[in-house]
Amino acid sequence: MIKGMEIKEYIAPKTISETYSLLSESKSNKVIAGGAWIKISFKHVDKLISLDNLALDYIKEDNESFVIGAMTTLRAIETHGGLKQLASGILSQAIGSVMGINIRNIATIGGSIMGKFAFSDLLGVLLVLDAKLVFFKAGDVSIYDFVEMTKVPEDILLEIKLKKDNLKGYFKKISKTHLDFAILNIAITKRDNFKIAVGSRPNIAKLAIDTANYLNSQKTIDEETIENAVEIAGNEIKLGDNLRGSKEYREVLMKTYLKRGIREVVK
Ligand SMILES: Cc1cc2nc3c(=O)[nH]c(=O)nc-3n(C[C@H](O)[C@H](O)[C@H](O)COP(=O)(O)OP(=O)(O)OC[C@H]3O[C@@H](n4cnc5c(N)ncnc54)[C@H](O)[C@@H]3O)c2cc1C
Repeated sequence: MIKGMEIKEYIAPKTISETYSLLSESKSNKVIAGGAWIKISFKHVDKLISLDNLALDYIKEDNESFVIGAMTTLRAIETHGGLKQLASGILSQAIGSVMGINIRNIATIGGSIMGKFAFSDLLGVLLVLDAKLVFFKAGDVSIYDFVEMTKVPEDILLEIKLKKDNLKGYFKKISKTHLDFAILNIAITKRDNFKIAVGSRPNIAKLAIDTANYLNSQKTIDEETIENAVEIAGNEIKLGDNLRGSKEYREVLMKTYLKRGIREVVK
């Protein structure tokens, strides 16, 4: 028994199909990755199914893409030389803003996605990188479709695919202290087109599609178009209150950092 968590049985299968069968048996069965979150989420679990023996801990890189196994730790991704170059290093920056190295050495990318945390610093970045998620049963699912789903699928996330698109990127997390959850986070990428995501609103990260479409339709990006874009984002992205910040404060933050981010990626 882990403190705060009652577990009837712990199993570490050697195949993904066995893992999936065990997960599908009952809603009270759960998979565990790094365990950093699940251990503090006070659940009763019949069968706790470890993903440790499935060889899902890898980062593969070729000329066109990166493929990251779901069991890869946040720290391994943060410090990977190739990924540090992707879109001005926004994935590495976002991960580097999550707690301390000790947590990042345990927490995995798979758990960070499947937790579908509203406070997530990763989901917005994965949205603007147009990540593809590969599930055991569902196959390829875009990160956009995953984030928009009302329920987390009862499936095993195997890997994450990221294209090398020569993007410029911007990431900003605003939090009271380095160790705290974000009051708001913003991720932007641009090569030919803009992609903009706002997270910890306090709801889950969302793509600002109208805002990006407006910017993409402009011949030049100047201060006037940036002002207009920020106005569109204000209507498009719903912000709210929680104990970390008020709606009004988030509105100011979003305007300020969207402007800075757009200027940054058009430099
Ligand atoms: C104290 C603390 C502070 C944190 N602060 C931040 C923060 O500021 N910003 C931020 O972005 N994140 C933060 N996190 C979240 C952290 O980055 C990880 O996302 C989190 O720990 C989950 O990763 P894990 O490997 O520990 O997953 P686990 O705890 O093992 O699992 C999390 C969930 O995902 C499921 N799951 C895991 N892997 C898979 C898979 N491959 N397929 C299917 N389901 C799977 C599990 O069943 C479980 O429901 C924080 C976590 C902690 C503990």
